[in-house]
Amino acid sequence: MSILSKPNRGRLLDVDRNPILHGILKKTFYEQFCAGENKAESIRTIKELKEMGFRGVMMTFAKETVFDHSTGSQQGLGVAALEGEKAGEHLPLSVTQCANIEAWRQGTLETVDQLSEGDCLATKLTGAGPKVTQAFTAGDLPPQQMIDALHEISRKCKERKVRILVDAESHHFLSGILRVTLDLMREYNRDGYAVVYNTYQAYLKETPATLARHLAAAQQEGFTLGLKLVRGAYIASDERALIHDTKQYTDNAYDTIAQGALKQEIGDFGTKTPFPSVNLFLASHNKASLIAAHQLHKQRLDTGLPTVPVGFGQLHGMSDEVSFSLLALKDSNGDPEVYKCSTWGTVGECLAYLLRRATENRDAVLRTADEYDALKMEFKRRFKAAFSLSGEDRSI
Ligand SMILES: Cc1cc2nc3c(=O)[nH]c(=O)nc-3n(C[C@H](O)[C@H](O)[C@H](O)COP(=O)(O)OP(=O)(O)OC[C@H]3O[C@@H](n4cnc5c(N)ncnc54)[C@H](O)[C@@H]3O)c2cc1C
Repeated sequence: MSILSKPNRGRLLDVDRNPILHGILKKTFYEQFCAGENKAESIRTIKELKEMGFRGVMMTFAKETVFDHSTGSQQGLGVAALEGEKAGEHLPLSVTQCANIEAWRQGTLETVDQLSEGDCLATKLTGAGPKVTQAFTAGDLPPQQMIDALHEISRKCKERKVRILVDAESHHFLSGILRVTLDLMREYNRDGYAVVYNTYQAYLKETPATLARHLAAAQQEGFTLGLKLVRGAYIASDERALIHDTKQYTDNAYDTIAQGALKQEIGDFGTKTPFPSVNLFLASHNKASLIAAHQLHKQRLDTGLPTVPVGFGQLHGMSDEVSFSLLALKDSNGDPEVYKCSTWGTVGECLAYLLRRATENRDAVLRTADEYDALKMEFKRRFKAAFSLSGEDRSI
């Protein structure tokens, strides 16, 4: 997977041009984790997921750029696209309006078209190519063309009642991503709920300080902070010193923020300073974190204590046992709200995403024991039901 995601790998190793490689990858990794190579395939997958009881989907258009801190290189759209942009430099300005940003805009709008009320658009801003990643590297706002595209997408999402979860990506690009997303929140999160969310990576030592700044902005300027919380997926490529030294520290950081938001107490916010309006989205496969958060949320609602709206999300193809355990706790109000997050795009466009899923499954191996036990129990239940003479629970 790592070799296949490298740029300029020739026709033989190009998954979108070599039909044998394409077929193998599609039937193995791709179909496990991704929604479809085109709109029709993707819509079919969304329908199937909703029929299973999920509140909705979080759908991503796959194009992105990953920065490898150890080699200083970029993988994904960035490199090949840069050549494309250079090739277009001699063209008149109207034509050189960045083709990558335009492709990202169109792909993202096509993604929104697949979604309906309550669904989420999950988006990777680096998918818009080198002009955008160069700005993010400098911590700057992206070119005006990208800002215009982001406003068009935000307006369309707000109209369709679709939320926008902006992904956290390589640390190299993060300050720019956080900055432009916060600006969108200022504009679109004004009606007491969040249309736009930033993603906060609990594994980064700097996240509590970042979050404090954003809570302060929301409190002072009167908008709702969209807080999507993850542990962080770039441990293999980001500078290690920026990340907590142990998994336990990351776990503690995750639970502290999640539970703090639900109790409306994070740092000085909620004690010395009023707690701003916050909408929380917990994206994780860690059952202990999610069940604890759900129980705290429910307990606070039942006892009339203040809390914040919360949604839960897992990736398509991973941790179904966690998703279905949460769904099994659903009450008459529809809580907890559980979402599956999927990605669409050609096999080649999804490679960076698939590579991260492969890395992540090293952690997931630790969880497979729980999934294996759950499968064994279900097998026994069905086996007994099939042979039961009493005809008790025959449902399979
Ligand atoms: C719906 C959804 C959306 C997501 N969106 C994003 C996103 O926008 N940006 C993003 O970066 N990630 C995203 N992720 C991935 C996420 O960050 C995690 O990588 C992944 O979910 C695994 O963490 P976990 O919470 O499921 O739990 P676990 O499996 O319990 O934790 C694994 C995680 O712990 C951390 N960790 C592992 N070992 C160490 C160590 N030695 N020291 C410090 N920390 C360690 C890493 O973050 C690792 O991924 C998303 C995940 C989901 C489910």
